[in-house]
Amino acid sequence: MTAPQVYTIETVASVTGGICYGNENLVVKNLSIDSRSLQLPEETLFFALVGERHDGHSYIVDLYQKGVRAFVVSNLEMIDFTIFPDVAFVLVADTLCALQDLAQNRRKSFEYPVFGITGSNGKTIVKEWLYQLLNESYSIVRSPKSYNSQVGVPLSVWNMDEEASLAIFEAGISRVDEMESLSKIIQPTVGIFTHLGDAHRENFKDDLQKLEEKIKLFLFCNSIMYCADEELVDKALKLRFAESKELICWSRNQEANLRIVSEEIKGNCTIISAEYKEETKEICLFFTDKASIDNAITCWLCLLNLNVDDDSIKERFLKLEPVAMRLEIKEGIGDCTLINDYYNSDLGSLAIALDLMNQQQNDKRKTLILSDIFQSGYTNYQLYKAISKLLEQKKITRLIGIGEDISSQAKLFKCNASFYRSTEVFLADLNRNQFDNEIILIKGARNFHFERISNALQYKAHQTVLEVNLSAMVHNLNYFRSLLQPATKLIVMVKAFSYGSGSTEIANLLQYHRVDYLAVAIADEGVELRDAGITIPIIVMNPESHSFDTMIEYHLEPEIYNQTICLEFEKALKRNGVRNYPIHIKLDTGMNRLGFVHQGLDSLLAMIVNNEHFFISSVFSHLAGADEQIHNDFTKQQITTFTKWSDQILAQFSYHIDRHILNSAGIERFPQAQFDMVRLGIGLYGISSVHQEKLMNVSSLKTTISQIKEVSKENTVGYGRKGQLQTDTRIGVIPIGYADGFNRKLSNGLGTVLVNGQTAPVIGNICMDMSMIDLTNIDAVEGDSVLIFGDDYPVSKLAAQLDTIPYEILTTISRRVKRVYFQG
Ligand SMILES: *Cc1c(COP(=O)(O)O)cnc(C)c1O
Repeated sequence: MTAPQVYTIETVASVTGGICYGNENLVVKNLSIDSRSLQLPEETLFFALVGERHDGHSYIVDLYQKGVRAFVVSNLEMIDFTIFPDVAFVLVADTLCALQDLAQNRRKSFEYPVFGITGSNGKTIVKEWLYQLLNESYSIVRSPKSYNSQVGVPLSVWNMDEEASLAIFEAGISRVDEMESLSKIIQPTVGIFTHLGDAHRENFKDDLQKLEEKIKLFLFCNSIMYCADEELVDKALKLRFAESKELICWSRNQEANLRIVSEEIKGNCTIISAEYKEETKEICLFFTDKASIDNAITCWLCLLNLNVDDDSIKERFLKLEPVAMRLEIKEGIGDCTLINDYYNSDLGSLAIALDLMNQQQNDKRKTLILSDIFQSGYTNYQLYKAISKLLEQKKITRLIGIGEDISSQAKLFKCNASFYRSTEVFLADLNRNQFDNEIILIKGARNFHFERISNALQYKAHQTVLEVNLSAMVHNLNYFRSLLQPATKLIVMVKAFSYGSGSTEIANLLQYHRVDYLAVAIADEGVELRDAGITIPIIVMNPESHSFDTMIEYHLEPEIYNQTICLEFEKALKRNGVRNYPIHIKLDTGMNRLGFVHQGLDSLLAMIVNNEHFFISSVFSHLAGADEQIHNDFTKQQITTFTKWSDQILAQFSYHIDRHILNSAGIERFPQAQFDMVRLGIGLYGISSVHQEKLMNVSSLKTTISQIKEVSKENTVGYGRKGQLQTDTRIGVIPIGYADGFNRKLSNGLGTVLVNGQTAPVIGNICMDMSMIDLTNIDAVEGDSVLIFGDDYPVSKLAAQLDTIPYEILTTISRRVKRVYFQG
């Protein structure tokens, strides 16, 4: 094996074909592309990536102040390097290519097997399961989380080191021409194809084109493993690689290396038997859904191929655990916020979790409960020294370390720290009063069973929760961003408790993802956000004059919709001695709600031109029917009117004034009317009037079955005895009623909920805090989860049942329903 290379700035320059400036002997160990998450800045090489809307060059000064000294840049004009005496930097033509070249170079130093996984679904599961199944036999490096993109892959491959004996990387693409670069970086020796689904179909001509692109990952492989039952996949692989590579497949219905003979589901486990090399083999796993079974069989094929013996295979599959790709944010005891991180425990994912913690609430005290970290490739001293530094950087107030290893390095930690040998010892000693109004991150390796700690610290109230998927929200945000011109600014509507999904958590997320403005309905909503540390501009759409002083104090920018409000606001500015305050002028172009109509404009303008107290930051209007085709002409008319009126306004001012008219549906349907900004609302929360398939569901309203009882047919159920039974019925009582936002109109069979994948109708009248559902033909027990709406039961379906719109359902879920946030 080639000795691992030490990368100096000079080597980086020569590998990337760049020109190097400054201290060329500076050694770099970590790569970073995101100024918000740094580990060990002195050893970090920052790549200033240039995207459509963000330019990494603009964070260099900030990074320098955080201690970063090495940069790869493509633009010297953005930054005056002469003012930083001790930096080293490499100037390249394209920083992303440079990152990829560097990773490709590192890959070449290692000769152990490298698995490259691609496919539409299941990449991360297969990668994580192979890790679980093989980590007794190999020392494995793998992609963190789902790092499988043009940026994620090089960052993953960079983690290869001489201590490992196997690498497992995933590669994902969303458009043509992306796989070749990933293939060169990973250079897999073994290729694994999981499944051809329909994600990202929109960017490809057809499935075949998408497939042909994906399998370019396998150009350098010796062998490829896949399922032969997807005909297109089988054909394409044979056509392209039958001559040059060993194709190893599994199948349920044709000859294959691993031929599945039977699958039997018994309770919560599946027994799979198959023929392999003329022998019958069997595994058993605690999963019963088809996707998990398929992924498990793919893994099984790999293990057989690596000659893992049958007994070990059996034993390891029994221990296979779900890949919990999520990070949960929950309410804890003593006004604490709990973040449960179920990702695997390593230094990289610790840094990610600490960032999330900082992103949530920066001013609260922060406690980290951390277990030993295994297989880091470092000595205990190096590892915990690095962690100690990381905790210092991320301003962690208190550490609770659990495990022999971390306890043995107690001296390294400078923050308030306590240590316990095991989870049991910690729990036995637990004093709940020591947690008060802080944010607690719980992160432990699997065998420490930190879910027990999380359980002990969790605030237990109502069993009814609204789960909010923050990753889905970011996905939706990115989809809408992809529809915007690079210079178009983005306002996100977070009024009405962010359409029901919560206020500060969502605003924090949006601020972190650098949206330009937030908009709320009333001043109080804005104050809440400012109190939670939101610093980006906030517009109040419905300002009331009694709150003007508060608005000025909290720097909230009003929508001005008539002359009276304008005068009142001017008075407030004078009273507070404030000058040059931003306001937003609302024009009514056809909605006939708030806003200036044409007649009122002149006197307004006369008042504002030369007024030292305020300036017009933006002029905007609102579309009345942007989501419906039948109103297209009217919408276009509104846009024309808006253009005309706003032109007149702009002509009277020497400074720049932003213009905006599009809401979510407008962004999708009238992209030519983006002007300077757009206002994203319902789309962020997962509802589209055009391309629903491009958005991810964000919110799921869930409850659990409190009680199940058999009721014979002569009885009735609930108030008013409305629940008339036709037959003997098994009913379930669920703790959700109209006071939670479960609309009473859904009573008596009008509404249905989802229990274990089956539809259960509501029986009788919905009560204030409870409801009854029919479980007669459903396999369910007390404590089972019940979905009111969510991923598998869209809120739009519920809205249709109620003859209303998703907006109303989402915003009427009452505040007493706990919001639980997760990523993944
Ligand atoms: C609520 C609101 C929006 C967002 O509308 P969506 O349909 O949710 O995208 C935009 N502009 C104004 C003025 C709003 O009140």
